[in-house]
Amino acid sequence: MEFLSVANERFITTQVTKLLNARTASKDKDVIAAVKGLIETELAAQLPDRPETEQIIRQLLEVEDRTHADLFLHALKAYVIPFTYPQAEVVKKLFKKEKRLRLPKLDAYDWKSVTYLSWKDSGTHRQYFVTRQDEDWKTLQGVTQSDTVKGICRICRHHTLVNLFTATVKGKAEDAFTSYSHYICEDPAVCNANLDNEEQIFSFIEENLKRN
Ligand SMILES: [Zn+2]
Repeated sequence: MEFLSVANERFITTQVTKLLNARTASKDKDVIAAVKGLIETELAAQLPDRPETEQIIRQLLEVEDRTHADLFLHALKAYVIPFTYPQAEVVKKLFKKEKRLRLPKLDAYDWKSVTYLSWKDSGTHRQYFVTRQDEDWKTLQGVTQSDTVKGICRICRHHTLVNLFTATVKGKAEDAFTSYSHYICEDPAVCNANLDNEEQIFSFIEENLKRN
């Protein structure tokens, strides 16, 4: 039964790493118990309130080592809701004003690893975003510079390789465009792997669209 978002799964993965790090750093039972308590609180606050969630938390807290963690995380995939992706025809409609839209290779994605769809056109340096929020598609587009630097990604908030993305947003007045720049992960797949809270991509798109 699928009930976890991809971002939920990323968040659980982060908590597993936290537990393994604590187990490596300390043999003190009280220290481990304290870390477990924190993990339990964070997971209960962030994950859907369901009986299965309790079971997942219990199993997570029993993870002893890397091998055990990998087995746990592998089994977790069965609970993950894949990203509802748009068909090619829908993508074309979503970006109908784009004259030379290059479509992403939709069959190349693992949709259980995607919180948002983003792809770049290496010829035009355009980058596109699509999210699914309350049964609606939300989109954003802009231009990405090819220079890569180390920095904090505005979407996933991780320190990683980023480049400057400038959103182009149509203003209220006809022909008025405003632009807004952020450093974001160079690779959307890396960003999706880091993103453990889907609100961060929703607010990123929202914030850019409001700037006019
Ligand atoms: Zn990122």
